[in-house]
Amino acid sequence: METIGIIGGMSFESTIEYYKILNAMVNKKFGGLHSAKILMESYDFDTIAKLQKSGDWQKLGEILAVSAKKLENAGANYIMIATNTMHNVAGAVQNNINIPLIHIADAAADCIKEIGCKTVLLLGTKYTMKESFYTKKLVGEYDFNVIVPDENEMDIIHNIIFNELCVGRILDKSRQEILKIIEKYKDFGAQCVVLGCTELPNLINDKTVFGIPVINTVYAHCRAIINLV
Ligand code: GLU
Repeated sequence: METIGIIGGMSFESTIEYYKILNAMVNKKFGGLHSAKILMESYDFDTIAKLQKSGDWQKLGEILAVSAKKLENAGANYIMIATNTMHNVAGAVQNNINIPLIHIADAAADCIKEIGCKTVLLLGTKYTMKESFYTKKLVGEYDFNVIVPDENEMDIIHNIIFNELCVGRILDKSRQEILKIIEKYKDFGAQCVVLGCTELPNLINDKTVFGIPVINTVYAHCRAIINLV
């Protein structure tokens, strides 16, 4: 079995889910007492979140690229960045290593294709919804239509992620707010919703809402890598 290198801790609440899901998937694939071979670099998320806020993606790219190289040197065969947002620096990371980076948006796209959706609602941090790195991939490489919420709704989702989910607060009030947004965009033509933030499945863990499929990017990302190891 090959070794997975995880760049994690962004936040620890979702990295825990990665660890659980990867091990469960490996056990299902290989049986017996098998579990995943994992190396991990886990950050102090406060440092990362401050750099995100100041827009210093250059520095973030450098930090993650160094970690990826460390994991490669330690024996990782694949790298996964355990957050959607930080794929904004996926290029810098891949450029610094000689092993594949398994991109979370490719994994999400595989799920969207399987379900047979064309128009997707993308929810995540403001960075993921507003910067072009995620949408460009889904539209440019996979030809999906991507809907993102309006500015006010983006703020609501972003604040729920950073003020609640990243510190383990799961509130029904917030779940209702996000469901309301999904329902609105379903009526605007969204055929599925991509939970493009690795903490969102901790709040919305349904397979469908209002009759449309929900894509859990943690699950999608883990599945993509387990197909390889
Ligand atoms: N884990 C989140 C994501 O998937 C947000 C935390 C971060 O900014 O990296 O985007």
